[in-house]
Amino acid sequence: MTTPSPDPFDVAVVGGGPAGCAAAIALAQRGRRVVLFERERFPRFHIGESLLSTANDALAELGLTERIAAQGFPVKWGADLATHDGAAGRSVDFAASREIRRPQTHQVCRERFDALLLDRAREAGVEVREATRVDGCDFDRNGVTVRFAGSRSARVAAVVDASGRWGLLARAFDLRRDEPRLANVAVYAHFSGVPRLPGERAGDIRIVARSDAGWFWLIPIDDRLMSVGAVLPKPLYRALEKGSPEQMLAALVADTPAVAGLMRDAVREWPVRVERDFSYGARAYAGDRWLLAGDAGSFLDPVFSTGVSIALESGLEAARELDRALADGRFEARRFRRFEAIQRRRFERFRRFVLAFYTPWFRDLFFQPTAPRPLFRAVVTVLAGNWRPSWRTRFLLAIFFGFVAVQRYLPLSPKLARRDAAAGFPDPTLAAGSES
Ligand SMILES: Cc1cc2nc3c(=O)[nH]c(=O)nc-3n(C[C@H](O)[C@H](O)[C@H](O)COP(=O)(O)OP(=O)(O)OC[C@H]3O[C@@H](n4cnc5c(N)ncnc54)[C@H](O)[C@@H]3O)c2cc1C
Repeated sequence: MTTPSPDPFDVAVVGGGPAGCAAAIALAQRGRRVVLFERERFPRFHIGESLLSTANDALAELGLTERIAAQGFPVKWGADLATHDGAAGRSVDFAASREIRRPQTHQVCRERFDALLLDRAREAGVEVREATRVDGCDFDRNGVTVRFAGSRSARVAAVVDASGRWGLLARAFDLRRDEPRLANVAVYAHFSGVPRLPGERAGDIRIVARSDAGWFWLIPIDDRLMSVGAVLPKPLYRALEKGSPEQMLAALVADTPAVAGLMRDAVREWPVRVERDFSYGARAYAGDRWLLAGDAGSFLDPVFSTGVSIALESGLEAARELDRALADGRFEARRFRRFEAIQRRRFERFRRFVLAFYTPWFRDLFFQPTAPRPLFRAVVTVLAGNWRPSWRTRFLLAIFFGFVAVQRYLPLSPKLARRDAAAGFPDPTLAAGSES
């Protein structure tokens, strides 16, 4: 047993994004003394605007349901899928799944969403230090010294690293595993003047497959703005005629008729941003006196909008583990085995879908309404965020992926996605960085 720390904090959280705020709020709600360090001053820009239904459960646990509802964020019921020319498509309705408690979710402007979470952390009693970068953590038998702002330090019993892609501890301990089949690049900006879907589904995300392995997202993030982005495997991105990010996004739009039609009267309201190297797994998610939450551990391609929902969930899970560890005064890595297993299992469940999306045979089935309804409903259950569905749903998913495998050799539905080398689909035999 360690003796109670004379220092004012039990836990330090690095990063004030969704993962860090979830961990900090949940620990404070349990009476723990928490300090949260955030490098930036909020509000700050962040990509990652489309939520899954299961984010509702996490937000309820954090006491944020009413506040989120009062923000007027666009209401999301699911997704609209279309092929590059709009000739085929289907809609994804989260309410179709019987295994989703609260299907209706939101698209969020992250500046506002993240600031709301950080305010909630303060309100819950977390000591929030904005514009304060953590430089490193030194671990010893009795605690952790967190170094920040150049020359200062704090002593705590344990650390939650929620520093996002920055990955403070993942980099220090060399924990990152590449995902060579998801080596993608995203090019995006915010636009006004982009029409929405009609009626109740006006807030849904649109996903448009290009004729190659790339795809577009269109996400309404408030009454006026639409987040529009293209994701391409690196070789396709490199093959694009080089120009400014603005020119590259414009060329991709022009080359995707279903998107070009929607962008006819669009006005760009933000600079175009480019992001890459965002998909990676983790060799470990926990160790002696530390836990990784959200992107600080692992991140999958944005195609199924899993990032924020996983970040919130894993932050809550980290808080539960640390609360127990603090109660016992023990912080060895082996105590966190269950946490580790949950992170790994969730990552693998979603990863199966994401890797499949970058094959033509999955797209052939996914983008048209040919899959039998119960099978597609099983797919929707996971895409709405329930990665621990019933055995029945798992069985149906196995059949769905069986169909996908057959589609590779024997078309069960019309072939939509190009199969030539120039289409740029990653080699499915490429060694993956993490186990499946
Ligand atoms: C192109 C693209 C599109 C995406 N679209 C979606 C989407 O539609 N829906 C979705 O759910 N997700 C999406 N994501 C993923 C989403 O952005 C992330 O998964 C999510 O933000 C993870 O939250 P987090 O709290 O783990 O990390 P972050 O939100 O990145 O927060 C980490 C915080 O840590 C701070 N920080 C970093 N280092 C330090 C340090 N040393 N000291 C102190 N503070 C530090 C940072 O300033 C930051 O505020 C997308 C990602 C990409 C790349």
